[in-house]
Amino acid sequence: MPLEHLALGRAATDRAALLRSDPGLIDRLLADPATRVLRVGHGRTPVRERDGGLALDLVGPGEVPDDALRVFLGRDADGTGYLAVRAEPGPDWVGLRRLGAVLDDAQVGLLTEAVALLGWHETHTHCPRCGAPTEPVEGGWSRRCPDDGTDHYPRTDPAVIMAVVDADDRILLGRSPAWPEHRYSTLAGFVEPGESLEAAVRREVAEEVGVVVGDVEYLGSQPWPFPASLMIGFRAVATDPTVRVDGVEIADARWFDRAGLRDAVQAGQVVLPSGISIARRLVEHWYGSELDDGPQGW
Ligand SMILES: [Zn+2]
Repeated sequence: MPLEHLALGRAATDRAALLRSDPGLIDRLLADPATRVLRVGHGRTPVRERDGGLALDLVGPGEVPDDALRVFLGRDADGTGYLAVRAEPGPDWVGLRRLGAVLDDAQVGLLTEAVALLGWHETHTHCPRCGAPTEPVEGGWSRRCPDDGTDHYPRTDPAVIMAVVDADDRILLGRSPAWPEHRYSTLAGFVEPGESLEAAVRREVAEEVGVVVGDVEYLGSQPWPFPASLMIGFRAVATDPTVRVDGVEIADARWFDRAGLRDAVQAGQVVLPSGISIARRLVEHWYGSELDDGPQGW
């Protein structure tokens, strides 16, 4: 796959999904002092120094408050179990956007999983059928309604994100009217119900910039739990490069050749998306190497 080892797509811990159906799983892990617990509040987590960098500040099960929501993240090859618990964030807790580039594969995988899953619990507390408060079951991987017995599963929203290129191998980058000046990125949008990924790519590009896309090629994906997206990356070839921006989602869109983009970034006229985003990786995949940030990063 052309786009591999994306910052938030890294993981090394077995999710051990078959263990989730054991109703005693969480209590057994809480009774085992070897269990490691990741505390997360509003998408942030405590960290500590390790080898000159940052690492998750994992604690033992004795430090978990009785009433905290806890979910099962998985286990290591040596049998160590991992839980995430919801906690009140401290002032020095750090978010996934910052930690995504600095944690190792196992730790970034645990944190991405925990932020995504706990974020879903925070916003899906009631039954969508009858409105009753639901309860976490299956190690935190679903919620059950005590009134009508229905099960409700964590949500992931697929979004397509695409490097649109033309016959001259230029790339199309656009900016949202809500962004600070000079920020440009690849186009992106949510997949609609009943729609294929390829159709979503063509529809979003046509809607936002009026460009007609032919071939669509999958390049890679990464979770983006802010709050619940899965970013699915493509290369899309324009059959007609004429740009007509919609003015609503996209305020400006331009074609760049490689030298033009490099010069614009170095001059501060274009600010590229952050290094942990798949958008940045799509741009660099087209460019052929990493691009240095200009005077100001995203
Ligand atoms: Zn219900």
